[in-house]
Amino acid sequence: MLGAMQDWTMRITHVIDHAAREAGQREIVTHWADGTLTRTNWSGVRTDALKMAQALQALGIKKGERVASLAMNHSRHLVSWYGVAGMGGVLHTVNPRLFDDQLEYIVNHAEDKVLCYDAAFQPIVDRMKERWTTVEHYVCYDSGEHSPAFEDWIGAQDGNFEWVTGPETDPCMICYTSGTTGNPKGVQYEHRSTLMHALAGLQPAAFNFSASSVMLPVVPMFHAASWGLPYAGAMAGIKFVFSAVNDPSVLHNLMIDEGVTDSAGVPTVWLAHFQYCDKEGIDLPPLKAATIGGSACPRFMIERLMKNGTRVQHAWGMTETSPIGTVGGPTWDWDQLTFEEKVDKTAMQGRPTFGVELRIVSLDDMSTELPRDGETSGALQIRGPWIIKRYFKAEEDAVGNDGWFDTGDVGIIHPDGTLQLTDRTKDVIKSGGEWISSVELENAAVGHEGVLEAACVGMYHPKWDERPVLFVVRNEGSDVTADDIIEHLKPLIAKWWLPDAVEFVDDIPHTATGKISKKDLRDRFADYTLET
Ligand code: AMP
Repeated sequence: MLGAMQDWTMRITHVIDHAAREAGQREIVTHWADGTLTRTNWSGVRTDALKMAQALQALGIKKGERVASLAMNHSRHLVSWYGVAGMGGVLHTVNPRLFDDQLEYIVNHAEDKVLCYDAAFQPIVDRMKERWTTVEHYVCYDSGEHSPAFEDWIGAQDGNFEWVTGPETDPCMICYTSGTTGNPKGVQYEHRSTLMHALAGLQPAAFNFSASSVMLPVVPMFHAASWGLPYAGAMAGIKFVFSAVNDPSVLHNLMIDEGVTDSAGVPTVWLAHFQYCDKEGIDLPPLKAATIGGSACPRFMIERLMKNGTRVQHAWGMTETSPIGTVGGPTWDWDQLTFEEKVDKTAMQGRPTFGVELRIVSLDDMSTELPRDGETSGALQIRGPWIIKRYFKAEEDAVGNDGWFDTGDVGIIHPDGTLQLTDRTKDVIKSGGEWISSVELENAAVGHEGVLEAACVGMYHPKWDERPVLFVVRNEGSDVTADDIIEHLKPLIAKWWLPDAVEFVDDIPHTATGKISKKDLRDRFADYTLET
C-alpha cells in the first residue's frame, strides 16, 4: 500500500520559485569587474532565468545538453544556474584558471553547446575557440562587443515559459575535478542530490542561514557548485552580495556597506583580508560567521576570527561530494569548553551533516573499518545521497560494491563524530584553493638537459597554504642553476605553478618499485621552510 501524500519531484525550479514567491524583494547585489554596483532581487533572478531558459530553447538546446559558464561571481551567473536547470539543461561551470589543454579537454568532453563568459575572459575564448569543437554559441555576460550580450540575448524573450519537468534524478550541473593525475573528471549533480545537499547546508550545524542572513560568497561559483550556497541561500531567502573581483579592499568595503553577516571561502581569502586590515590599521568586518574550507584552516586564523566575534565553520568536502561532507559548528559541550579548546575543536574539519556517512578504513587493505576513537587514522570513505557514484561518461562506478567512495584523504574520527584530517593519499599540491599537479611539474622539469631527475612536493606557505618546491638531481657535468630551470618551465606551465624554490640534491628517494617516494622526501625535508 502506498502512502497518501502529494507528488513533489525534487527539482531545482522549486527552489527559485520559492525564493521569488516568499522572498522576492530580498536583494542580490553585484560588484562588477568595472567597479559598478547593481541590484536585483530573487523575483528578478527568476524572471531572468525564465527568459534565459526560453533563449536556450530558441537556440535549439535540448534537455540534458550542457551549457557552460566561464565566469566569476555575479547575478547573471546566478541567473544561469536557474535558467539552465529550468530548461532541463546541465550547467557546466568552467574554472578559468585551468590550462588550455584542460580547458580544451573538459569543454569537449562535456560537449558544451553554449558558453557564457565574462568579458575579462575574452582572451581565453579567442585562444580556445578553434579547439572547442562542440560550442555553437557564445554569449558575453558583460558586453556585446565580441559576442551577443547576455542582457540583450535574454532581453529578446518575454519570459512566458513553463519550467521543463522530469525525474528528480535528471542531471542539472557538472563540475570537473582536476585533483588527481590524468585528465580531469566530470561530476554530474542531479536535481535531487542538489536539493538535498542544499537542505543539509541550511542546518544550524552547517551554514546556519536565516532570513536575515547576508552572504558574500568568496568561493567562486566555478568551484564545486560554490558549496551549494546559491541554492541554500535561495531556500532561506537570504540577501546575496557578489563580487566579480577578489580584491580584499573591495570585499571589505562591500561587507561593511551591505551589512554582510556571512562569508565563505578558502583560507587564503582570509589571509589576504587580514593583511589588508593590518596595513590599513582597520578592524575586521563584524561578520557573524565565516565558512572556511577547501584546505585546512590554520589555527591562527580561527583564533583571530573568533576573537572578532565571528563563528568559524570549518568545512571539508570535495567536488565529488557536492561538496559538503562535514562542517564544524558548536558541539553539544561547546559552552563548557575554554577558548583554547574551542579553537582546537574548530581546527578539525567538523562533523557530517545529516545524509552523509563517514568511515575510516585501514590503509593496508582499504576495507577493514577502524575505530572512531580520536586516535586511529585511516583512509577516509564516504557515502550518501549527494556523493558521487560514477564519473561522467565513465564505464565503471567510482564506488566499491558496498557503496563507499574513497576520498583519497586520511583522517581520524573522534567519538563525537568530529573529523580530523591528517594527510592526503594523493600528492597534488593545493595553492590558494587551486590544484597544482606535482607530476606535471616534474615532467616539465626533466625536459631540461641539465636535469637527471626531479620531484616536486608542496611545502607549507603562510599565504597560499602550499607552494611547490622542486627537488632536482643534476645530470653529470651539468651546472644548471635554479634560474635556468625556472626559465625553462615558464613557457611550459602556468605562471602560478612555477615552484617557489628549486633545491639541488644528490639523490631522490625511491620506493621498491622504483617510483619516487614523496613520503621519504618529505621526511628528509621535514624542517624545510620556504622563504616568503
Ligand atoms: P576539491 O575537489 O578541489 O574541492 O578538493 C577536495 C580536497 O581538498 C579534499 O579531498 C581534501 O584533500 C582537501 N580539503 C577540502 N577541505 C579541506 C579541509 N577543511 N581541510 C583539509 N583539506 C581539505
